[in-house]
Amino acid sequence: MTCHLCSESQLQENNKIVWTDISGKEYCILHAPAEQKNIGQKDFNDLIFHIIKKSAEDDRWCDLSNTIFPWEITFSKETTGPSIPHIDFSNSTFKKRTAFVNFDTKKRFILDNSTFESSLQLYRVTLDDTSSFTYINCQEDARFRFCNFSETEGFNSAIFYKAVEFLHVVSKDIDFNFATFEETLTIHFTDFLGKSSFDNTNFKKNVKIIESQFKKATFKSSNFLSDAAFVSSIFLKEVIFMQTVFGGDVTFTNCQTSTSRLFFYELSVTQKITFSRIYLHNATFLFTDLDKIKFHNVKWQLSPDGARLISPVESNLKGNLDKDLRNIDEEILQDTIHFYRQMKKKARDNSDDEEASLWHYSEKEMVLRRLQTYDKRPFHKKILQAYKITSRYGEDPLQAVEVLFYLSLLLLATLALGGLYALGEPPFDITAPRVAKGLRAFAQYALFMKPDWSPPAFFDFIAIFLSRLLIPIQAAIFAFALRNKLHR
Ligand SMILES: [Zn+2]
Repeated sequence: MTCHLCSESQLQENNKIVWTDISGKEYCILHAPAEQKNIGQKDFNDLIFHIIKKSAEDDRWCDLSNTIFPWEITFSKETTGPSIPHIDFSNSTFKKRTAFVNFDTKKRFILDNSTFESSLQLYRVTLDDTSSFTYINCQEDARFRFCNFSETEGFNSAIFYKAVEFLHVVSKDIDFNFATFEETLTIHFTDFLGKSSFDNTNFKKNVKIIESQFKKATFKSSNFLSDAAFVSSIFLKEVIFMQTVFGGDVTFTNCQTSTSRLFFYELSVTQKITFSRIYLHNATFLFTDLDKIKFHNVKWQLSPDGARLISPVESNLKGNLDKDLRNIDEEILQDTIHFYRQMKKKARDNSDDEEASLWHYSEKEMVLRRLQTYDKRPFHKKILQAYKITSRYGEDPLQAVEVLFYLSLLLLATLALGGLYALGEPPFDITAPRVAKGLRAFAQYALFMKPDWSPPAFFDFIAIFLSRLLIPIQAAIFAFALRNKLHR
């Protein structure tokens, strides 16, 4: 007579049958349903602790898989003994409140596919060998406090039906992919120090992440169906939100991002996302509608010439190469231009001319890059390059004045050279009246008057070209840039 649910190792330990179901299947004390065990809380729990202690003594795996725990139970140093063996609780059912308290193990700890019908609490638990919580099913609150999960594979496909809290938890690589949080999730003072992934994770109610750290995190195709708040948290290296769905109000407030790259790709936003008091130094927004994204007190990085470093395109060009984006897609270039345009519009809508001017500059820079890379029409490129040189795309009156000054110098030089040419071979007889005559001619050219004296034909032609065409155009560009700067 043997329990049909016992594994081989379990069979060696308990072969006593406590119940037989109507189809004749036999069950041992571990695997019998709760109401068929005919054993009190103390006796049952003592039996469990005994099995754990004995496995530790014999240095064997403690196989408690498929066990049904009918009573409230606390696993701790006091109950399981000081050394804990490899424990396998997979596919087990915990009917009442279950706690792991002051539970440090250097051996494997497996909870895969187990069900907690009441609350689950892990308090001061350190897991130093591979542990796993995949597919766990928590029907009541789950709390993880002051835990070290450095060796945890994670919570892939876990389902939490009630509130979940992580407080002062440290983890390295951890996997929450395909997990579902039916109720609120609160993460505070928690450090995700490796690669943490929340891909395809469902957050159905509010998510709060406070004063926590993420080294490398991904939220690909995850669903935030209610509000989400990232508050005073630190992003250390790279955080990717890709095809993420945000159904409620989302805020990123006072987060440190100075060392991290932030990617926002193809977000779907129903309400709004607000970034406030945050440096978006290395943030990238692509294929995302900015209508529902608000920026308050956000700092963007400026390149030495005042353009923004915000897109992967620019990071690439700067040498910060990202493998996947080495060959920049025209689509990405085009969308980056679109991003700048939207940001410019936002700034204009807020009557922030200075901001608008910066975004305008970035937009034109990107358009120029696109023309250089993908567009074969040289005329457009030339015009834009000239626009950049003459006034930095109409945004810099100082540069326009500088160019105006050089054009005037060129006119003066043309007249001086023409004058020298007219005088013949050196040594030149340069007298004060001749210099005065030249300066007078310069003023007359500049003021569109008929000059008293003209240099020989070629120089005269250059002087007329400069004074009648280039200088007036540049003067107009200057006026335009000045207007842009002072009044939009
Ligand atoms: Zn059994």
